[in-house]
Amino acid sequence: MATATATATATNSLGSYAAAVGEGSLSSVLSTENRDFLISPSGDKVYVKDIEDNTIGLYFGANWYSPCENFTPVLASVYHQLRDKGSKFEVVFVSSDEDQASFDRFYSKMPWPAIPFSDIQSKRSLTQRFQIEGIPSLIILDSSRRLVRSDGVELVYRYGWRAFPFTAERIAELEAEEKAKHASQTLENLLLVDGRDYVMSHEGQQVCITTSDKLCFPLLGSDMKLNKARELQVPVSSLVGKTVGLYFSADWCPPCAKFTSRLISIYNNLREKNEEFEIVFVSMDRDEAGYSRCYTGMPWLSLPYDAEFSKALSRYFDVQGIPTLVIIGPDGKTVTREGRNLINLHLEMAFPFTDDQVRMLQVKMDEEAKSFPALFNHVGHRHVLKLVSENSGGGPYICCECEEQGLRWAYQCLGCGYEVHLKCVRQVEGDAAAKGQVPAHDSFCAIDSSRGV
Ligand SMILES: [Zn+2]
Ligand SMILES: [Zn+2]
Repeated sequence: MATATATATATNSLGSYAAAVGEGSLSSVLSTENRDFLISPSGDKVYVKDIEDNTIGLYFGANWYSPCENFTPVLASVYHQLRDKGSKFEVVFVSSDEDQASFDRFYSKMPWPAIPFSDIQSKRSLTQRFQIEGIPSLIILDSSRRLVRSDGVELVYRYGWRAFPFTAERIAELEAEEKAKHASQTLENLLLVDGRDYVMSHEGQQVCITTSDKLCFPLLGSDMKLNKARELQVPVSSLVGKTVGLYFSADWCPPCAKFTSRLISIYNNLREKNEEFEIVFVSMDRDEAGYSRCYTGMPWLSLPYDAEFSKALSRYFDVQGIPTLVIIGPDGKTVTREGRNLINLHLEMAFPFTDDQVRMLQVKMDEEAKSFPALFNHVGHRHVLKLVSENSGGGPYICCECEEQGLRWAYQCLGCGYEVHLKCVRQVEGDAAAKGQVPAHDSFCAIDSSRGV
């Protein structure tokens, strides 16, 4: 008995234990002696026997907790998609709300049945039975009432409706697909979706000339066309073979605005040198108006606004916050997700962002550091700063002047935990090196697209 329990617990932590938790009927899980029904959003009775042959998601959540509020619409969209496809999937809401009014408010956003709020006993016993430790929680039961997964929330965020029917086999399939996708990644399988094989470009920034039967735009390539809306569509195929930066950014994110202006100057410099470089804006904006405002100021290409697609792409690259610049190499494989840091550190010298280039720049940094004094009297700090390298206590740091990441070399005051880039120090008394270095403020904005919890 002890062994069986231990095994169940161990697999449960992986979110996939398949121990029988019911007695073969949904009624034994969802009904009581006095109640053989659930309530529907319209207040009608939904008899438990009528949803018996469905895969069930038991949704534990509450109005007062924002991760639940975030998850509800995501689950609702998956629910509608599965129902539209005719999949036998039902969700049952098990409320952790404090009173009927909160329950009513939260439940009004849900399209599926619920355990009546008044049945507090059922709610308690279900919470206990499925060992619910936090909300939101989505417990998946298959039609023979075996607990299939306890990590339904994560799976819904990660795979959407494709996670259905949430079995170990299905999830293994999706994981293998994802792994294969990274291994065989190309720019086209990253950016193409059904029915769309292009990205957008601003009209009017390119010079148009006509060659034979099609319009060409010399600044961007030779294979573009005007669509009816007079916006430019640039085929993704025309980007193949270039180094492409996928720029995850949004109008609502102040650090993005700051990095965007820096990136524009790098982009223009690289394009002037005719480097094979392109940037594609991936909007993390909450609506199309935000996207338009944000994209207006950008000189590069953009994915058409599609919140779901952007979220999927950000999950694929595990983007934790914005701004983020993911660099894709000419072969379509990911070069680095650290494009932002590399640009902040090395400006256009960072191109093409490869390991070789970064190593070369590090050697150069080491060379340059030799010409810096061991001690520095910096205007931004009241103590003398000491030149340190990675080997002498430098390590990765956030520069106290420009608030961007630093690596390898820094001027440091160990006592205060104060560190700055070598390029960011300014001599206390009128120094020629003080050429317009202005302290700046930016950081990182969290996005709610990935795990949501
Ligand atoms: Zn700095
Ligand atoms: Zn100090």
